[in-house]
Formats: sequence, structure tokens, C-alpha cells
Amino acid sequence: MFNEFDDYDIQTLAVRAGYEQTPEQENSEAIFPTSSFRYESAAQAAARFSGEEQGNVYSRFTNPTVRSFENRLAAMEGAEACVGTASGMSAILSTFMALCQAGDHIVSSQSVFGTTKVLFSKYLMKFGVEITFVSQTDVSEWRAAIKENTKALFLETPSNPLTEVANLEELSKLAKENDCLLVVDNCFCTPILQRPLEQGADIVIHSATKFLDGQGRAVGGAVLGNAQLVGEEVRGFLRTCGPSMSPFNAWIFLKGLETLPIRMRAHCENALALATWLGNHPKVEQVFYPGLTSHPQYELAQKQQSAGGGLVSFRVKGGKEQAWTVIDNTRMLSITANLGDVKTIITHPATTTHGRVSQEDRDKAGITDNLLRVSVGLESVEDIKKDLARGLDLI
Ligand SMILES: *Cc1c(COP(=O)(O)O)cnc(C)c1O
Repeated sequence: MFNEFDDYDIQTLAVRAGYEQTPEQENSEAIFPTSSFRYESAAQAAARFSGEEQGNVYSRFTNPTVRSFENRLAAMEGAEACVGTASGMSAILSTFMALCQAGDHIVSSQSVFGTTKVLFSKYLMKFGVEITFVSQTDVSEWRAAIKENTKALFLETPSNPLTEVANLEELSKLAKENDCLLVVDNCFCTPILQRPLEQGADIVIHSATKFLDGQGRAVGGAVLGNAQLVGEEVRGFLRTCGPSMSPFNAWIFLKGLETLPIRMRAHCENALALATWLGNHPKVEQVFYPGLTSHPQYELAQKQQSAGGGLVSFRVKGGKEQAWTVIDNTRMLSITANLGDVKTIITHPATTTHGRVSQEDRDKAGITDNLLRVSVGLESVEDIKKDLARGLDLI
């Protein structure tokens, strides 16, 4: 479908790909806030419902604005198919509900988003899908965990919040050798920094809520992959079970994609500067950022991502009290748990995003009480430093 854009750079795809202009000749993409679509005849209605004729039917599974978002993101990720979903979590749920059945086994990195762990270990398990959690970075643990009934390997890279980098090339090789799927949550990098399908992944998942929107306005998600797995099976789940993206939200994300390349560059530039500064601060024990040469997987990150990303985590000297002192002495930073916004956000993972994860699992994942995560926004990095320095100086 995107043959016309085959030769274009991702920066051009972000602005131009995937939109079908209406007869009104609008220059900015239109929104279609309609639940259903009209047919010219009873025969056409029947043909649309049976799938014999392509076209709009009902916005749970066919909406032109959602389709434009899906097609643009598909072009950017280099995917045959994309399905928009109501949230990032429903993108993960839809993928596994569509592709797994009772008796299947999933191997997941233990360093995935806290809510994803709850989804796997509480809800998917209830339906007879087995889960094993392994180290994000030790490929031999993944190899050892794979069983006869392993259907998929799941990870996000860099991980949240410790920015551990998983080796996509090795894990995709392992998945192929064992006839299972490699599913990658590409939320932190976006296709601007990393294109997992080109590195051997079978499915890419997004929380569009984060960098794709980029301005903290709407919740949404997406699943990308080939025409069969995603175009037929995941879309089939969505059509029947309904965690669909609304046209309004699709329009926000579609417009968000237009500025994604320049925003990601600016996020990365600010994040690298902030991480470097934190690394030299006397009250900071350790900094986690894949763009720093001190990161244990700096070389792997350099190879598989085009920059370090917008997330920086660090341990302050002390514990929860000292971490909270830094948060409570900020004046500008947003104290919230979202990420990927133009506004810089500060989070205490142990008591928020990972608060529902057991202490034992938190310890295993390195989510200590003195850890802070910063989603670096697009304000002046000097002002971001000033805001953090106030609390750090009090420790
Ligand atoms: C936020 C997030 C999700 C969940 O997305 P929602 O849109 O909040 O449902 C999944 N994975 C990662 C890495 C996230 O950061």
C-alpha cells in the first residue's frame, strides 16, 4: 500500500504516509467521528459485512482516522500491518489473546513495565497461559526457559526504569530456532530510534500514550507485524472483543507522529546532557542511561538504537526519604507517572509504576527505594538541572 512512499525517509513518512485524502481537498488530516457507515444498497452492506468488499463497516474495527494512524505508523516501523488499540495495555492483551491459547507458554523479561507483569502473571495465567520471567540481558536464561510449548518471547528495550538493553539480534535468532515469536514493546525508542522488525522481531507493540502522542493528551496503543498475525488475527480479536482506538485519539496520535522525528532528537539531546550532569553530581549514586559510555551495554545500545532515548534513571545517596526529597523540592517538573511528554516528568517507581509488584520482584528487578526516573522533556535542560539540584543539594 505504501509503494508510493517506498523511497522516502522516515522523517517524510511521519508527515505524509498513510492518509487518504477526502474530496474536500483538506491539507490537514480529517477526523471521522462516526460509529457506523452507510451503504448504497442491501447488497453492498452484505458484501462489506462478509469481507467480500473492502470498506468501512463500523468503527469498532474500521474507521478512516484510525486507519490513517495505523498506516502511517506501519510505514514508519516497516510493518505490513498495524492495529490501533484503546491503550498500550490493550495492545499487549490483544496480541496474546489473539495468538495464544491455554497450554501455551510465554518467556518474558522480568524487567517489563509493572502493569505488563500483572497482566501476565495474574490475568493470562488465569486462562492457562504459563509465564516464565527471565533476565533482560542474559540470553542463556532465555534459552534455558524455552520449552516445547513456548509460543512467544516478550520484552521491551531499553527497560523501564533501569534502561537495560536486550539483544534483539540474538533473541530473534533464538526465537526462530525454537519456532516462537519475538514480541517487542518499542514504546521507549519509537521507530525513530529503533526498528525491531528489521532486527528480526515478529511483532512490535506501542503505548501511543507516550512518545507517539508526545504531549500527554490521550491513551492509546498499537500492534504491528505481518498481514497474517496482526492484519488477520490481532485485528480479528479487536473486531470481536472491542478494545479499539477512538477516532479522536487516532487523530491526536496521527498529528503526534508528524513531529516524532524532531521531538525524539530533542528528547535524546536533553536526556544525554542531563544524564552526564547527574553522573557528576556528588549526591547521585548511579545513573542509568544507554547513551552514556558508563552504561554496561553502551556498545549494544549504539548498535541497535540510533540514540539513548528520553528516559534517565538514577539512584540518589540514601533511601526513599532522600528520593522523595528530590521530588518534593522540584517546582517545575511534573510529578506523575506518565512518560514521553514534552514536559519533564519525575517518578518514584517503587511506590507508583511498580507499586503493585511484590517487594521480592522489585528487588529482583533492581527497583530500589532510592531510584528516581526522569522522562526528559523539551524544556531547557539547564532549567531541568536547576529543578533537580534544589532537592539533591538538601540530601
Ligand atoms: C505505558 C506503557 C505501557 C502501557 O500503555 P498504556 O497506554 O498506559 O496502557 C506499556 N509498555 C510500556 C513500556 C509503557 O511505558
